[in-house]
Amino acid sequence: MRYSPDPMTQKIRTRIAPSPTGFLHLGTARTALYSWAYARHHGGAFVLRIEDTDVARSTQDSVDQILASMAWLGLDYDEGPIYQMQRLARYHAVVEQLIAAGRAYRCYCSPEELDAMREAQRARGEKTLYDGRWRPAPGKTLPPVPENVKPVVRFANPPDGEVTWDDLVKGPITIANREIDDLIILRPDGVPTYNFAVVVDDWDMAITHVFRGDEHINNTPWQINIFRALGAPLPLFGHCPVILGDDGQKLSKRRGAVSVTAYQEAGYLPEAMLNYLARLGWSHGDDELFSREQMVQWFDGSHLNRSPAQWDPAKLAWVNAHYIKHADDGRLAALVSPFVAARGQQADVDRLQALCGLYKDRCSTLVELADWLGIHFADVVPSDADLATHVTDAVRPALAALRERFTQIDWDKPSIAAAMKAVLTEFGLKMPQLAPAVRVLVCGRAQTPSIDAVLALFPRELVLSRLQHLSII
Ligand code: GLU
Repeated sequence: MRYSPDPMTQKIRTRIAPSPTGFLHLGTARTALYSWAYARHHGGAFVLRIEDTDVARSTQDSVDQILASMAWLGLDYDEGPIYQMQRLARYHAVVEQLIAAGRAYRCYCSPEELDAMREAQRARGEKTLYDGRWRPAPGKTLPPVPENVKPVVRFANPPDGEVTWDDLVKGPITIANREIDDLIILRPDGVPTYNFAVVVDDWDMAITHVFRGDEHINNTPWQINIFRALGAPLPLFGHCPVILGDDGQKLSKRRGAVSVTAYQEAGYLPEAMLNYLARLGWSHGDDELFSREQMVQWFDGSHLNRSPAQWDPAKLAWVNAHYIKHADDGRLAALVSPFVAARGQQADVDRLQALCGLYKDRCSTLVELADWLGIHFADVVPSDADLATHVTDAVRPALAALRERFTQIDWDKPSIAAAMKAVLTEFGLKMPQLAPAVRVLVCGRAQTPSIDAVLALFPRELVLSRLQHLSII
């Protein structure tokens, strides 16, 4: 019998449970987003749990990075962070409860014994499973308890039958109990294993829906059996497929950035990441661009893809460009300011704001935006090719005349435009001849937004000096 929480009568509670052994992985960020959106959609609660039982690999630095990434993405949680290592007493109590009920037992096998057991099974062509030698049974005599050996505790998995659940993403899944053995739930040092702690926590925290990566599908039968042994209600499970890199292989560090932090540092906006991650594995009709609010409104746990999605950097860049273009100039100025500072450049926020307004519709990332702003704050070096193509003998006299006019006008966009027009008339030139030459000399590139608007945001003196580049005119 599958326990199915009724959204009408029971509060929806979801969680994300990262292990602090590195940055927040994109796959975890995506399941965090689904869990968060699902809770918000139903007016439920979203819990953040830190699964730090891998003591050797867990670090405070990773915890800090994970919390910072969650905050950056705006995935606010209602409870937590809850640390598993602060709940050891609770796990020990539940272990004792299972032992007392005959659903768990102490196993004193040494690593050498277990190796020998597996070796023998392999030699017989059998699957390597724990053979149950310490599992109590009526009429069975257990081996003598060795001295000075700290036992593990194993869960007494049902030997027969099968475990079935209706996965929210993958549909019905069935795994036979004979395929899985008596899992270690408590290590000799008293630290619980993942599959046990996760069940106690999901039970205690009244989690109703678990969204996680499909690498955990094989763990789920154990977890369901432990839930049942505890008499705890089962949550619903949704296992999301892995994210593939653009080479079709599982997205991994070797194949590029896999952490939320890396994308933050590469100049992506949080709303772009959320939008892109949401769409990577879920759809709402043909919608590609949607806000957090729309996602919360639409995300009801359906339309999750069963097959793996491919990470598409070009699409992410397109989504990011959209959000940069539509961002408020003041907010963009604040967002781009650290990128400007990282280049050793400085500008006050008002100036940055005006510049962001000018360039924001042509940037895929904040790094690109900072690159544009950089033409205002650092020397530019036009390429020889651009100079040869655009600063031709035909336009040089016009550039000199323009520079002269620029010394005399009010320094604002209409006056700059008027001066350029006058020079075009005087020299019988067209804008596509004069403007690129000015751009190359002042901005170091042949394409920019409207040149009068660009020039107006430079100090006049800088424009005058750049127009004299290499004494070209
Ligand atoms: N700590 C596990 C992980 O990071 C959590 C899996 C789960 O959500 O149950 O993969």
